[in-house]
Amino acid sequence: MASDTVSEETQVDGPNDIVDDAENDGRFHDPLSWPESTVNPVRIRWRYALSIPAIHLLACLAFVPWFFSWTGVVLCVLGLYVFGTLGINLCYHRLLTHQGFVAPKWLEHSLAILGVCTMQDTPACWVAMHRMHHKYSDTRPDPHSPLVNFLWGHCGWLMIVNRDFRNVNYYERFVRDILKDPFYLRLERNSFWTVVYAIHALVFFLIGFGIGRATGTTAMDGVQFGLSLVVWGVLLRTVVTWHITWSVNSVTHLWGYQNYNTRENSQNNMLIGLLSNGEGWHNNHHADQRAASHGHHWWEFDVTWLTIRLLEIIGLAKDVVRPKSWSEKATTE
Ligand SMILES: [Zn+2]
Ligand SMILES: [Zn+2]
Repeated sequence: MASDTVSEETQVDGPNDIVDDAENDGRFHDPLSWPESTVNPVRIRWRYALSIPAIHLLACLAFVPWFFSWTGVVLCVLGLYVFGTLGINLCYHRLLTHQGFVAPKWLEHSLAILGVCTMQDTPACWVAMHRMHHKYSDTRPDPHSPLVNFLWGHCGWLMIVNRDFRNVNYYERFVRDILKDPFYLRLERNSFWTVVYAIHALVFFLIGFGIGRATGTTAMDGVQFGLSLVVWGVLLRTVVTWHITWSVNSVTHLWGYQNYNTRENSQNNMLIGLLSNGEGWHNNHHADQRAASHGHHWWEFDVTWLTIRLLEIIGLAKDVVRPKSWSEKATTE
């Protein structure tokens, strides 16, 4: 049950002129149609429609014993935190999209590179989609509302051309602040971000090859160990990270509970909250978008927030935005 109605003010996303007009009007249509800019005619975005299934297929090599190594398994699990939590949750989402805290540039850029290594597009692209999502949540222009259907909200939207994203002026309006930084502009140009992803996969292979060669007897031992790190530590980890991020878009706009009446369908979902290291407390997040903690109650466990808190304690995060409900609670006690 929704316990609080979110004020008009808290609906507005943080960064100044980014979400400047046509706020979420609170209407939500059930069922929704695909966004206007994806229909008439529907065009497949082949680059994504081919690469997403291809990476899934390659990740299935993890089921082939020759590609197995325990080191690969460990790297896969650790990678979910390093690339998914630090790269996507902490950097792409809470830092770059919502400016929930400030970090030194060297750290921000390093974390953004971790995000690039999850193959979820460039920081500017990710931030633009997500700001659009907040602005139009569960209304027709929302790029990925699962109220269209589950599969559309989960990953279908990535595989269809959305003409809004091709309109450079429209797109840039959402990420002017990000594109001011030459570092992010460089990642945009000539798909340089995909080169970064390929280099990181190559580094996994070469390190694995070196170790396998040194500890094994033949060069093939090096190849086998190197490929096991790529299959588990890169490909499978990439796919799992995708589904965790996609579930925040799909599952947490369908099932869960609401602490706040946010006038769209965002939910706090226990399973996704835990699996995603804090992103699944999505209704809290929609209600208070800049807050660096998405868990608002003590039981809403948020590993990403604990990491930001640690960065703050050691002096690497400043101006950390706390949930408004925490200060409201403190003043009423
Ligand atoms: Zn949402
Ligand atoms: Zn957000």
